[in-house]
Amino acid sequence: MSRNSPTCKSGKTGRPLTEYDTKAEAKAAAGYANKTYRNNNLVPYKCKQCGFWHLSPADRQTPSETCPVCRGADGKPKESYSSQENAQRRADIILKEQSVILKVYECEHGNGWHLTKQNIN
Ligand SMILES: [Zn+2]
Ligand SMILES: [Zn+2]
Repeated sequence: MSRNSPTCKSGKTGRPLTEYDTKAEAKAAAGYANKTYRNNNLVPYKCKQCGFWHLSPADRQTPSETCPVCRGADGKPKESYSSQENAQRRADIILKEQSVILKVYECEHGNGWHLTKQNIN
């Protein structure tokens, strides 16, 4: 069974996420959506919040770690991406969703790639 989740909302649209009871159901729904809407590449994931399954675009899955050395302007450890491509992908998502331009640069301590706010001079 699939239904609108009472607990989980899309961070992008604010609409309830669709939740599935099993991975098999979520996978079938993803397969259908990917065939129907060709620009989508949805993958099922198990939600930590509700324990059911949701679908998420594969290009949102940009795994990151925190850099043990570098800190951002807010004093928090910077996110570090394993490749320039992953960092750029994340920057593109943030640009689309928050209209913030971020620049990709390589960590000077060799801990992957970071994003920084573009200075507008
Ligand atoms: Zn959920
Ligand atoms: Zn760093």
